[in-house]
Amino acid sequence: MKDIKSLNLEQLTEELLSIGEKKFRAKQIYSWIHEKLVDSFDEMTNLSKDLREKLKANYNLNSMDAVAVQTSKIDGTQKYLFRLHDGHVVESVLMKYHHGNSVCISSQVGCLMGCRFCASTIGGKVRDLAASEMLGQIYKIQKLSGERVHNVVVMGTGEPLDNYDNLVQFIKMLTDENGLNISQRNLTVSTCGIVPRIRELAGEKFQITLALSLHATTQEKRKQLMPIANKYDLKEVLDACHYYYEQTGRRITFEYSLVGGVNDTKQDAEKLTKLIGKFPCHVNLIPVNPIKERDFVQPNKQECQAFRNKLEKNGINVTIRREMGRDIDGACGQLRKSYLDQEKGEHEC
Ligand code: SAH
Repeated sequence: MKDIKSLNLEQLTEELLSIGEKKFRAKQIYSWIHEKLVDSFDEMTNLSKDLREKLKANYNLNSMDAVAVQTSKIDGTQKYLFRLHDGHVVESVLMKYHHGNSVCISSQVGCLMGCRFCASTIGGKVRDLAASEMLGQIYKIQKLSGERVHNVVVMGTGEPLDNYDNLVQFIKMLTDENGLNISQRNLTVSTCGIVPRIRELAGEKFQITLALSLHATTQEKRKQLMPIANKYDLKEVLDACHYYYEQTGRRITFEYSLVGGVNDTKQDAEKLTKLIGKFPCHVNLIPVNPIKERDFVQPNKQECQAFRNKLEKNGINVTIRREMGRDIDGACGQLRKSYLDQEKGEHEC
């Protein structure tokens, strides 16, 4: 059975022609799936029963179930845990900002990258998500919450550039005028820095924002925090970011997790300025979210502010990531992890 939700309009048109259907059916079906966000072929009421049966026999329209939803009493942030058709679970978050609703999605089940402070990578990578499963998280959140999604960030579990083809298909479909039609400028993809894929993405000439997880100002320190730094040198990574800017005109977002006693001093802020000061960029400081498997700690509020002020004084555009849903907090990936730990516990009993 084919995954019909992962086909773009052109592919769906070819597919329908190949099973003897008229071209215009493709647009109707695409609209049911990607605009009206239905979960079953039976809801496609402008199709004949025969066609619906034919679709059911040849394609799946996998929808995901929410197995857990946590809602913040402070700001309405919602964390969702979705079960995929094969039983794996992924985490997504809906954040409500004054400029619109933003959804953070996962791009893989687990992650291969092994960043030291990250909960999502502890069990390794299980599998890539299909384009349909990245779209599906947004569609499901929109349906369950009744809220229109304006911005999407691919910053949940997984390394999006380690799932390149599905990511590109997802970007095209999410921003397609026949689907949710989200502007490319409202989409951010975050990467730990897979150099050849950053360059390839630049060549796609999308208007999306690239966020680079930098986290350190020297190659040595970056290696301690992020195993990917063993593969790509800091200079190569920054060159690739510059290339991305040249090709797309989009300024880069640098993510910098502030880790107490590791990368949070005034000297670090100075080094960071030297490193990226000439870049058209924005720096997003993320006070590290402690995870129980590691002993990384957040700098205190004053230290975070001092770091930000130093960058600001040096002329760098910088924000400290606002804490969303403080009462349902816990690092990204921990909802999934605690669910898996609990499942494991149940099997062991
Ligand atoms: N693999 C991608 C996207 C997923 S993580 C990437 O590396 O960019 C999204 C961001 O959250 C990354 O900048 C990541 O380094 C950061 N992050 C992960 N765990 C964190 C934690 N416990 N505290 C603070 N930031 C964290």
